Amino acid sequence: MALQDSFGRKIDYLRISLTPKCNFKCFYCRPQGDCLPGDYPNPLTRWEIERIVRVAAALGISKIRLTGGEPLLKPDLLTIIRQIARTPGISDISLTTNGFFLAAKAAALKKAGLNRVNISLDSLNDERFRRITGGGRLSKIKAGIDAATRVGLTPLKINMVVIKGVNDDEIRDFAALTRDRDIHIRFIEYMPLGDGHNQWQERYLSVKEIMEVCQSLGPLERVVEKVQGNGPARYYRLAGYRGVLGFISPISEHFCGTCNRFRVTSDGMLKPCLFSGEELNLREAMDDDEAIKALFSRALDIKPSPLKPPYLAQHHCEGVRARGMVEIGG
Ligand code: SAM
Ligand code: SF4
Repeated sequence: MALQDSFGRKIDYLRISLTPKCNFKCFYCRPQGDCLPGDYPNPLTRWEIERIVRVAAALGISKIRLTGGEPLLKPDLLTIIRQIARTPGISDISLTTNGFFLAAKAAALKKAGLNRVNISLDSLNDERFRRITGGGRLSKIKAGIDAATRVGLTPLKINMVVIKGVNDDEIRDFAALTRDRDIHIRFIEYMPLGDGHNQWQERYLSVKEIMEVCQSLGPLERVVEKVQGNGPARYYRLAGYRGVLGFISPISEHFCGTCNRFRVTSDGMLKPCLFSGEELNLREAMDDDEAIKALFSRALDIKPSPLKPPYLAQHHCEGVRARGMVEIGG
């Protein structure tokens, strides 16, 4: 059975948030500062995750991304990865992390069956990095990047959320990292998801503007070969450089027409769309594979039309509190 909606979009990718907890407080992700473990005391267990993945794989999901909060804080993460890797039909497991705990865990993650990682990094300056993340140490992230590369969690992708007046003066420095290293630098537009994004409009920078800055380093050539795990990013390479640059434009140029994903929040809600407040409670179906299947099928039905994207409409969904990125997982 394939998960395909009436607009021809085939859903084969599931992002699972393992925890809403995080050791960082990136202001664009957690604008209200604090984590919300009190709101979600009961994150999905590894047995629940195993069951959701097994049923999803039988429906045609082949790629899983683990995220959070910070997924490396999930106590039984290695067991979860091993279980997912054993699931028939799953061909790719990736993880998005802030990289703080990665140096110590990279080898074990690889051995458990993880294929690759995306690391979020918004500044190459120690002091600025500390300010953005609310106390993070840049040296730990660099060590994480080196360890992930060493053990083969590749292609390694670095996600930079570009924010005007905060880190936009570093776009060139990030792009220059691809000169000699076979890595992907992905520039992401800042999205005002959840509450508390004061001054969002003043801080927002479009992909078009970001690309113009990159072009000051040289001509950008469109990458035509398949990039593993490529989703919404458009990929380019600076002429003569080894790595690639990805541009993700959820605000300025939506990619709803080619969306191939569903999300599961750490408290077990199936989300057909990042921007919509619609959610389906998988926990209520947890004893019955057929009931889980029915919820995936319902998620297909309510996935918003690509012709009428529900931009930042979370606030308009009755009875659903607007979730921030830290709760959804990006
Ligand atoms: N803690 C992990 C990390 O930072 O990679 C995983 C969770 S984080 C929510 C996933 C991704 O969402 C990160 O790459 C982060 O930069 C991105 N993100 C968070 N808030 C965002 C926002 N307001 N706009 C755009 N991207 C955002
Ligand atoms: Fe934590 Fe990642 Fe959000 Fe930063 S972006 S607060 S590291 S979940």
